[in-house]
Amino acid sequence: MEIQVNPAAPDRRKPKPADESNLGFGDLFTDHMFLMNYEKGRGWYDPRIVPYGNLEFDPAAMGLHYGQEIFEGLKAYRGRDGRLYLFRATDNFKRMNRSAARICMPDLDIPLAMEALQRLILLDRDWVPGSPGTSLYIRPTMIATDPFLGVRPSHRYIFYIIIGPVGAYYKEGLNPVKIYVEDKYIRAAVGGIGEAKTAGNYAASILAAEEAHAKGYTQVLWLDAVERKYVEEVGTMNIFFVINDEVITAPLNGSILPGITRDSVIRIPGDWGVKVSERPLAIDEVTAAAEDGSLKEAFGAGTAAVISPVGQLTYKGRDYSVAGGRMGDLSQRLYDEIVGIQYVEKEDPYGWRIPVEE
Ligand SMILES: *Cc1c(COP(=O)(O)O)cnc(C)c1O
Repeated sequence: MEIQVNPAAPDRRKPKPADESNLGFGDLFTDHMFLMNYEKGRGWYDPRIVPYGNLEFDPAAMGLHYGQEIFEGLKAYRGRDGRLYLFRATDNFKRMNRSAARICMPDLDIPLAMEALQRLILLDRDWVPGSPGTSLYIRPTMIATDPFLGVRPSHRYIFYIIIGPVGAYYKEGLNPVKIYVEDKYIRAAVGGIGEAKTAGNYAASILAAEEAHAKGYTQVLWLDAVERKYVEEVGTMNIFFVINDEVITAPLNGSILPGITRDSVIRIPGDWGVKVSERPLAIDEVTAAAEDGSLKEAFGAGTAAVISPVGQLTYKGRDYSVAGGRMGDLSQRLYDEIVGIQYVEKEDPYGWRIPVEE
């Protein structure tokens, strides 16, 4: 399928941010977007790059009512060598197809999605910031558009990709955050949609996050939905604990989002001779380890922050300090390794970097 390109007229292009040190996150988009449509029986059609602008939906579009919506989040980086790179982008589209299957949405052709993404980035290449820590955030999205009120899979969808420059997540160093261990609300249950990157999981999480913020916490640590016993994720990141010499994260049992950063964090320390376990970890084991000093580190892992160190946990009204409130050595080493690969400051033994080129 041929991707049609309809560039924005020069006088319709937006001014690029003058000061990269003031870039935020998710509030600024480039001059173009990629778009294509799907219809049952016909498949995907009309792949096109067009000026960034509003979408037109019928108010009865099914995705708006019944949550048939999935998305991805990834980044492009300006490398030390001046060239542009994606990080594990095909893994994002593979995950999007797994999310799609769970929500009864159509499969993407991954080579087509990759070509669309690369061409979009190249068209808006001047928007990719270059100062340390900045990047281009990429949001592929699929939504059901059948104008129909009734619960069934839609027969029509749109897939689009929007991109925009984002600032350094850590402007003043990696400050460990305070986390509230959530024992009232849950994010996802096994058998539900927790492992799909879909809007409903976020809708389920907002109230808990708001209540935690009001109490002075940055994020919540989610426990399992059945027993409120096992650690699952932190906010919108996967969570890792280092107890003695073991690095532990929750297994992919259906309620955990299979993070690509999570996967990187599991694979890298193996090469360093550090043991990483994917196993159920009870919050009581974490708090006991915090008390006897064997809890060495805890950190969240996700595309936006890469590694987000945890400095304090609060569970059932008790505060537990983690790593003396500082960033742990392994957290720092993992952060340096992943960021080093992304910005072409280090070798890429895993083949994770994908050059963006014609
Ligand atoms: C996207 C996401 C993550 C992190 O995934 P990455 O691929 O590492 O960015 C973790 N948990 C949830 C709930 C997510 O939506």
